[in-house]
Amino acid sequence: MKSWTCIEKCGACCKIDLNSRSNLSDILSKDDINLIKSMTKEDGWCKYFDKKNMKCSIYTSRPHFCRVDKFSKNFKEYKKEGDKFLINCCKEHITAIYGKKSEEMNRFKEGTIKK
Ligand code: SF4
Ligand code: SF4
Repeated sequence: MKSWTCIEKCGACCKIDLNSRSNLSDILSKDDINLIKSMTKEDGWCKYFDKKNMKCSIYTSRPHFCRVDKFSKNFKEYKKEGDKFLINCCKEHITAIYGKKSEEMNRFKEGTIKK
């Protein structure tokens, strides 16, 4: 079994399109949704994503829904599939932003450890 792990210099999940993430509205409050909207720039990227250094500029105080390791446990799919669900979510995000054969995808695949 593979375990999920986030990689550095990715941020593919920091470009947020609420319309394509319908499962988010099931587990987020109205306040959370409003916060996401206020964080999202016109180009879809979170205003806190530092593109120069490819990292979150408010990492230690980022909202609860950005804390993937804890937040993901709220999804019914996580309860069923565990890390497989998270790995697939990251692959989707990385494919959409950087492409299937990107350096980010290679690094992500290398980071998912076989147990
Ligand atoms: S898409 Fe996945 S690997 Fe990339 S930053 Fe988000 S959680 Fe980490
Ligand atoms: S607050 Fe940080 S982790 Fe959350 S979406 Fe924005 S850049 Fe990404």
